[in-house]
Amino acid sequence: MTGTATGATSAPAAPPRRHEHWINGAAVPPAGGAYFPTRSPATREPGDEIAAGTAADVELAVAAASAAWPAWAARPAAERADVLHAVADAMAAGAAELTELERATTGKTDGQLKLEIDMSVAYFRYYAGVLRALHGRTIDLGAGAHAYTRLEPYGVIGAITPWNLPLNQASRALAPALAVGNAVVAKPSEFTSTSTVRLARLATEAGLPDGLLNVVTGTGPEVGGPLAAHPLVRKVAFTGSVLTGRHLAGVAGDRLIPVTLELGGKSPVVVFADADLDRAAAAAAGAIQANSGQVCSATTRLLVEDSVHDEVVARVVERLERLRPGVDFGPIITEAQFDKVLAAFAQAARDGLTPLTGGAAYDDGPGAAGQYVRPTVYADVPPTHPLAREEVFGPVLVTRRFSDEADALAMANDSDYGLVASVWSGDVARGLRLAEGIQAGQVAVNGGPLTIETPFGGYKSSGYGREKGLEALHDYAQTKTISLSLG
Ligand code: NAD
Repeated sequence: MTGTATGATSAPAAPPRRHEHWINGAAVPPAGGAYFPTRSPATREPGDEIAAGTAADVELAVAAASAAWPAWAARPAAERADVLHAVADAMAAGAAELTELERATTGKTDGQLKLEIDMSVAYFRYYAGVLRALHGRTIDLGAGAHAYTRLEPYGVIGAITPWNLPLNQASRALAPALAVGNAVVAKPSEFTSTSTVRLARLATEAGLPDGLLNVVTGTGPEVGGPLAAHPLVRKVAFTGSVLTGRHLAGVAGDRLIPVTLELGGKSPVVVFADADLDRAAAAAAGAIQANSGQVCSATTRLLVEDSVHDEVVARVVERLERLRPGVDFGPIITEAQFDKVLAAFAQAARDGLTPLTGGAAYDDGPGAAGQYVRPTVYADVPPTHPLAREEVFGPVLVTRRFSDEADALAMANDSDYGLVASVWSGDVARGLRLAEGIQAGQVAVNGGPLTIETPFGGYKSSGYGREKGLEALHDYAQTKTISLSLG
């Protein structure tokens, strides 16, 4: 019998809210009729449900995208720009709603959510702006002949994105792809899909023509696989793990279509004794605080000149120990990733490594209700140990000490990855020498900002292709040469 001690009947729990796919400008239920639950990593409680997509849904979305892009591509750049500005306005107006959806599936802090939603809007504004300055060029071939180039869209782009910065990474791919005249079928992570579906709805309401931005939710194998393999998808933009990236590179290779791969990292932060040590320590601590280290570009290897190593590391530890779960940093977003971080701690313990701080989840206090991990530092980790080589994707920093500039450069490059690096030195020339020698797609010297304007992408196993900046516009376009003889 249900009821309370006073005999009143308790209200039945409200059914979970459902999020359908967004296809051809409308909410579309999954062809298979199935839905997934989502779960809050901050409380471990179930949340909204999302459509469990299959190849049939992908088919519908790709057909809509394929029908939509030619008319879009034929519109003057200025008109496409106006529409993308309207999408940015709609996102800004809907920021509270986007924030709540993102919070429900990721448990992020207020500050982190604001940063990501603002940045998502900014991607649309930036590409709406620079789109109008995207032109081909004229090539004078002499003797009355010349050629000109046109930057043409691929047609349908498949955009497959991860769970760590859901709306942000979707926007990073969608805005330049749409700007150039493509249509997109987006496949967000099955753990964090709701904000991307809402973005598509907002875009339609803001005037983006139907079929240009479709979102099919579901798992990698059920939705991402059929999307990358679909004959009408002419380019894949992937952000995620090396494992999945390698698989998709194979699929794209077989189909002879381009793929952009934004994969993982094990990025160094190099601190010389003559650096502003306080700023450097704050940056090193900030890198693993931000999104609890679940950022592909997190600088998780702290390399410090021997004479100041202990002092810098002590300052980092002191900063990290002041952080509060749920206020200063969020939880680990998926349960599998939470288990993976804890497994890395267990492995380190078995190998005799003791953290200077952290090395565990919270078993009491405000962090215990969710998947919160204590910010963690391991000092002097042997360079061959998995903690020093493999991406943990959590709030975990490892340190090493170097003797001179050559040693620092060798250590910075001692990685299979090459996404970003950070160098701190009072000698700017030395900072720039290091920056030029480091094998990574982005290097910040003395805290130089890395923004939407600055092209971003990997060297080595961190992937290929470039997002952000003008480079992304070129990456979502193919160049055609038209040559004319007046003779
Ligand atoms: P993941 O590779 O498991 O998943 C990423 C996306 O790929 C998800 O949407 C997933 O459903 C999909 N997917 C999985 N298997 C697939 C398949 N067989 N076919 C097609 N799609 C498939 O990665 P993740 O766990 O969601 O994200 C964490 C990883 O992403 C980390 O390694 C991190 O470094 C990386 N990452 C990189 C960047 C970057 O810009 N370089 C940014 C964020 C995250």
